[in-house]
Amino acid sequence: MPDGPCYRCLYPEPPPPGLVPSCAEGGVLGVLPGIVGSIQAMETIKLLLKTGDSLSGRLLLFDALAMKFRELKLRKNPNCPMCGEHRSITKLIDYYEFCGVRGEEAPEVNLHVPEITPKELKTRLDRGDDLFILDVREPHEYQICNLKGHLIPLGELPRRVHELDSSREIVAHCRSGKRSAEAVDFLRKAGFKKILNLSGGILAWSDQVDPSVPKY
Ligand SMILES: [Zn+2]
Repeated sequence: MPDGPCYRCLYPEPPPPGLVPSCAEGGVLGVLPGIVGSIQAMETIKLLLKTGDSLSGRLLLFDALAMKFRELKLRKNPNCPMCGEHRSITKLIDYYEFCGVRGEEAPEVNLHVPEITPKELKTRLDRGDDLFILDVREPHEYQICNLKGHLIPLGELPRRVHELDSSREIVAHCRSGKRSAEAVDFLRKAGFKKILNLSGGILAWSDQVDPSVPKY
C-alpha cells in the first residue's frame, strides 16, 4: 500500500550472512509457503478490487505447528531506508551475495573441478570399479533419496575429513552438483587427488540413469 509501512520499516537491515539457514539447509514443510502464498495472493486480489480490509499496517504471524494466527500493529518508520523521507534504497541489490546464500540457492558458482557424468558413473559401478560415493547433502535430503553413499554434509566436511580414505577414488555428489563441487574443491586443496564431482548431482542421476530416484 502506498501509505502503509514496508518490511524495511520493521527490519531496516537484512540479517548478517550465514545467520539464517536457507530452505535447502534448514528444511521447510512445503505446505507452509503454500499457505502464506495464498494469503498474499488474497491480499493482492483485494487491493486490485479495492475491497475489504487489507493487511497494510498489520504484521500477521502464523504458527503452523500451533495453528495460530497473531497480529502486530506495524507503523511506518519515518527513517525507513526504503519508504522514509530520506530513502537510501532505490533499487534491488544482489541478495544472494549480500545474504551470503550458499549451496543450492546460490547462483552458478564456476568452480572448475574434475567431473564424472551420471552415465559414466553408472557404467563404472556396473563394472565393479572400487568407487567411494560421498554424499554432501543434509540428512533430511538423504532420507528423500540417496545413492547409498557415505553421508557427510558439506558444512561438516572439514572436521570429518578423516572419515575419507584418500587412496580410494571418491565421487562426491549433492542434489544439483554445486555443493559437491565445493566439497571436491575443498578436498583437492586438502590433498585428495582421486576425487570427482558427479555433474548435475542426484537430479541428473534421476534424469539420465534411474528415474525411480525422486527429484526434490
Ligand atoms: Zn518502510
